[in-house]
Amino acid sequence: MSASPACLACGSKERELVLDLGATPLANANVAPERARAAEPRYPLQLLFCHACGLVQLSELVPPEVLFSDYVYLTGASSTMVAHFTAFAQEAVRRFELGPRDLVVELASNDGTLLAAFREQGVRVLGIEPAANLCRLAEARGVECEPRFFSEATARALRAERGPAALVCANNVLAHVPDLPGVLRGCRHLVEPAGVVSIEVPWLLHLVERLEYDTVYHEHVSYFSAGALAGAFARAGLAILDVAELPVHGGSLRVLARPGSEHGPALAPFLARERELGLERAETYHAFARRVAANRTALRALLERLRGDGKRIAAYGAPAKGNTLLNYCGIGPELVEYTVDRNPLKVGKLTPGAHLPIRPVPVLAEDRPDYALILPWNLAPEIVQQEAAYRARGGRFLVPIPEPKVL
Ligand code: ZN
Repeated sequence: MSASPACLACGSKERELVLDLGATPLANANVAPERARAAEPRYPLQLLFCHACGLVQLSELVPPEVLFSDYVYLTGASSTMVAHFTAFAQEAVRRFELGPRDLVVELASNDGTLLAAFREQGVRVLGIEPAANLCRLAEARGVECEPRFFSEATARALRAERGPAALVCANNVLAHVPDLPGVLRGCRHLVEPAGVVSIEVPWLLHLVERLEYDTVYHEHVSYFSAGALAGAFARAGLAILDVAELPVHGGSLRVLARPGSEHGPALAPFLARERELGLERAETYHAFARRVAANRTALRALLERLRGDGKRIAAYGAPAKGNTLLNYCGIGPELVEYTVDRNPLKVGKLTPGAHLPIRPVPVLAEDRPDYALILPWNLAPEIVQQEAAYRARGGRFLVPIPEPKVL
């Protein structure tokens, strides 16, 4: 754990504390039941705003090897994400005219879901994934994967070994990297001069507008506006070709870039929306922090009222973001008895800090608690549809954000 001495994107020291979510355990550090009484390491969860470049970032960083050694988020566990990546691979092959000689490299390739979709289109693929357990899952589905961290040095070595890439994808990874300038320079080294770097990041505009404060956890060191991202790209020698808004992960940006120095016109409407919301001013984030505190009060009041009426409450899902919510709001088994999750690596464990037992999904329809609080609220439509059996037996769903409500 170390306090970051300067802005992760631009190096400025002009940063201001704008949100304090307290000290929490790591959001993916699920606890084995036999370790329930052992102390869990906690780390401050605070956001700073950089006055120089606009990047919102964590105040202190946990070393990546502590965070990612046994990563348990599986892209393939969500049918929404599988459909999203399959559509992206098909579109990219058409749009960039990728063929059997072209190489697609993905940083943080997780369980290989995206690259498997490219491979089906007949393109060469390579995953770079620091979590060894995920690399093995990708290899099992025929996706070549190197178990290492991506850096500028890694990029140089890969280019020497395999030649340049026609497409470098970094989906939901830039938010995780402590050395943002190094990773972006690495992307520029690895890609062909006329190739494309495609990145997806959760968009800070939605985090602020829709009160998605639970997406703040130690694995997410940076929270990007299009403005902060454009500055970081320019400093790395990448010119933005296109920007699109995506519905995944509560609202994301997809930015396409290639080596160059001039950003294209696609960026301007995104910058205009950010100015309208005031994302370049610290006061906007202080106002956000006041709404976050009000959400905690309202969510606790709703759960306590239902419990007071004798209702039983469980949760659905054990995502990282759920742990920020549970720990910040102080919600434990006295309010929410347990949660259920599709990921077999999580079932049988306790959620970090709050210690909700994680059970298999079918328990929900069998046990029939009166309410189930959906922690991965971005997947709520998919979950409500899948859990028809629970609903048919009288079960009802709650969502916590942007305001707590019964669906
Ligand atoms: Zn900065």
